[in-house]
Amino acid sequence: MVNIKSLFSFGKSDNNKKIVDDAKDPVCGMHAGDKITLEHNGRVYHFCSDFCKTQFVQHPEQYVTE
Ligand SMILES: [Zn+2]
Repeated sequence: MVNIKSLFSFGKSDNNKKIVDDAKDPVCGMHAGDKITLEHNGRVYHFCSDFCKTQFVQHPEQYVTE
């Protein structure tokens, strides 16, 4: 008995699920979650804490490397 369903499910990936795996806090270098974010020059930055976010907002040029 061939399981047709398994053939069709093959190659079907969950593209709707976008995982940000390089969510790194630019201020302290720690891995940041997706709770505290800030958009700066069209890029979204992630922070581990409000403290780091505040540091970034005050001196973004120190942390933006591009
Ligand atoms: Zn941090």
